[in-house]
Amino acid sequence: MKLAVLTSGGDSAGMNAVVRAVVKAGILQGCETWVVREGYEGLVRGNQADEHQDAILPPPPPEVRVKDVNFLKNLRFGDGALLKDGTGDLPSGRTLKGRYIVRVGWDDVRGWLTEGGTLIGTARCKSFRTPEGRTAAAYNMIKEGIDALVVCGGDGSLTGADVLRSEWPKIVGTLREQGKISEEQYKLHGHLKIVGLVGSIDNDMSMTDLTIGAPTALHRICEALDNINSTAISHSRAFVIEVMGRHCGWLALLAGLSSGADFIFIPESPPETNPWEDEMCAKIQRHRHMGKRKTIVIVAEGAVDKELQPIRAEYVKDVLSERLGLDTRVTTLGHTQRGGKPCALDRIWPTLQGIEAVKALLEATPQTPSYMIGMCENKITRIPLMEAVAATQAVATALQQKDFAKAMSLRDPEFVDSLEGFFATSGLDKEGRLPKEQRMRVAIMHIGAPAGGMNAATRAITRYCYRQGHTPIAVQNGFLGLLDDSVYELSWLTVDNWMARGGSELGTNRTLPDVDLGAVAAKFQQHRIDGLIMIGGFEAFTSLLILEQGRKHYPAFHIPMTHLPATISNNVPVTQFSLGCDTSLNALLEACDSIKQSAQASRNRVFVVETQGGKCGFLATLGALGCGAVIVYTPETGISLDMLRNDVKFLKRRYELDVKGHNEGRIVIRNEASSHIYTTDMLTKMFKEEGGKLFDSRSASLGHTLQGGIPSPMDRARAVRLSLKCMAFLEEHHEVLRKQTKRQTTPNTAAVITIQGSAIKWVPVNDMVEHADMKNRTGIHGWWQDIRELVDAMVARPQIV
Ligand code: ADP
Repeated sequence: MKLAVLTSGGDSAGMNAVVRAVVKAGILQGCETWVVREGYEGLVRGNQADEHQDAILPPPPPEVRVKDVNFLKNLRFGDGALLKDGTGDLPSGRTLKGRYIVRVGWDDVRGWLTEGGTLIGTARCKSFRTPEGRTAAAYNMIKEGIDALVVCGGDGSLTGADVLRSEWPKIVGTLREQGKISEEQYKLHGHLKIVGLVGSIDNDMSMTDLTIGAPTALHRICEALDNINSTAISHSRAFVIEVMGRHCGWLALLAGLSSGADFIFIPESPPETNPWEDEMCAKIQRHRHMGKRKTIVIVAEGAVDKELQPIRAEYVKDVLSERLGLDTRVTTLGHTQRGGKPCALDRIWPTLQGIEAVKALLEATPQTPSYMIGMCENKITRIPLMEAVAATQAVATALQQKDFAKAMSLRDPEFVDSLEGFFATSGLDKEGRLPKEQRMRVAIMHIGAPAGGMNAATRAITRYCYRQGHTPIAVQNGFLGLLDDSVYELSWLTVDNWMARGGSELGTNRTLPDVDLGAVAAKFQQHRIDGLIMIGGFEAFTSLLILEQGRKHYPAFHIPMTHLPATISNNVPVTQFSLGCDTSLNALLEACDSIKQSAQASRNRVFVVETQGGKCGFLATLGALGCGAVIVYTPETGISLDMLRNDVKFLKRRYELDVKGHNEGRIVIRNEASSHIYTTDMLTKMFKEEGGKLFDSRSASLGHTLQGGIPSPMDRARAVRLSLKCMAFLEEHHEVLRKQTKRQTTPNTAAVITIQGSAIKWVPVNDMVEHADMKNRTGIHGWWQDIRELVDAMVARPQIV
């Protein structure tokens, strides 16, 4: 199969990861791979020069043996590598000028993961909307022998792809009649295979949770907001921030949620009252009366009131200045939101989606619908493309008809949860909403090592408690602090700036409650704890287990108790994602990018990067996929001498395949607990020794840097979402227990909140045990172990060794 990939519509971070993955997965499946420059415009223009490029760069020396001949043939064409350069001129005198459909090889997409925007260019193309334009596009594709197309763009681009596919048989017939294509071409290209990937920073496509580029745009917004926060506090100012999103408020909503904004305006959920100015001012006034020194209002580009009148940032500013006398500034983030390096999510998921896209193309038949590759929670999905487009358009129609409830119902569950989360954590109810007898004293503890999102979760719990009338009790320094009576009520204002704080504001350590279970029970009684939320990693899980088992002896533990997994290692059994793991993945990638750059400068350096993670290879594996590492070592697979022999062989062959003077800096990731014997130092020395003249080696240990830093927006948003579910869990079980004369809990009232595939599920702590490797403090089979194979695939290890 000859397949081509193009990017179309607005650019977004992660598009390069898609192109890279499609090219690599295509080559691995034995396809010839092409890229189309400038979106549909490139298809319509086609190639002016008809001469074809054979391998342009010199072939590797004959002594290099590669298992897969097809791989070798597809190793490099040079044109793609020059796309990255931006010049479009080749040293051999060839040029990309006048050539829009360009054959690319394996090494042409080298280093594309870390680049923002789209290296193959994107455009809006009027002529593709006309039958003549599409006929020209089809002709240009057939000329090159291409009849499989991957399109990465928004709903417009995907609709365009579907139109082309549905018209294809007719167009091909016309081209044959006109004698433009031969009978053979006509027979060979009767059917067009297409697959769509959604590249859009707005996250505006229905039936998929995350579009490619949206997480990075959210990162950019949150970075800006975090910076604005400090100046806002310093001057006690109000800021009105305008963010992108014409028909979809996802960016504004998630930015509001993860930055702890006071008010947001999004198209799907206009303010309740009309005119809305009173509602906004009253809310902000209440916050100021509580002592807040900053006010942040976020306005989506497409924000409207209930009558569809646009709400503009400048006007909001005037209202705040005039009515509340606040020193108010407007910041429009504009195109900075599109720019910059892709975040971890926009490297890893687009890679997985690109691989899936190639699979879908290979399986496509004239009878199967065109698919869009999407995501449902954490699963890659295939969705009939036009169904998704229709659902997306239905949201726009609902909004035009002022049917906001319908628009919300068409958004994914995470969107709805996030909006509720924003209301629950941003407001201030003086009275509390629950009747007195239903109110609880909720203890919050951080256990284990710090992880991004712990503070955000604590803030969300505290805010929700105030809204309902519960009392949030901070227990400092885990169980040691409890025994020391380091216990206090958290105030609404104290937690105000905790969304963006890394580390653990409550303090955390690894001490388990069995340090003195009886005394712990006594403290629960003394502080009249009605419900407990422990935020942490494996120790928090173990603590919950001990407390549940302690119920036999201590009535004080007959309360609802939860564990909210938060650990950079992601080693809590059953759940696929803990709070903090997105933050640390981003920290890891950031470090690896810098290291790779340094390795690149000296051209032939292999860096062995050591990561944390304990006996769990999640961080190392996903990090390797996200930074394009050539080898990953994890505790699950361990390290053996045979492996190392093969690894050295692989590295040598890989360096031999590099064009002289175009060698690459390469990264090897080693989890800290992969082997006692084959340490990072030992591996580095071994690679150096074995690399000889081909490559050199250095090491870097990232250590605790991975625990620190500002939590990623995704971890913050997830923290809010999961904490509120924990609170709902406590409320539900508290209500049942309250009605009993003698409090007697069932085991399901001590449970862990887990993310499993596309669902959030409660698992009683006792049932977690069978999925846990208690000795190694990790789950029994982590889903990421299957990803390891993809890390190898993306560097063609099976083909090269
Ligand atoms: P996005 O893909 O981000 O939604 P646009 O709506 O501008 O961006 O679409 C990008 C390109 O896709 C357009 O310039 C056009 O070439 C093509 N396109 C969009 N809609 C159609 C359509 N209905 N038929 C054919 N081509 C279309």
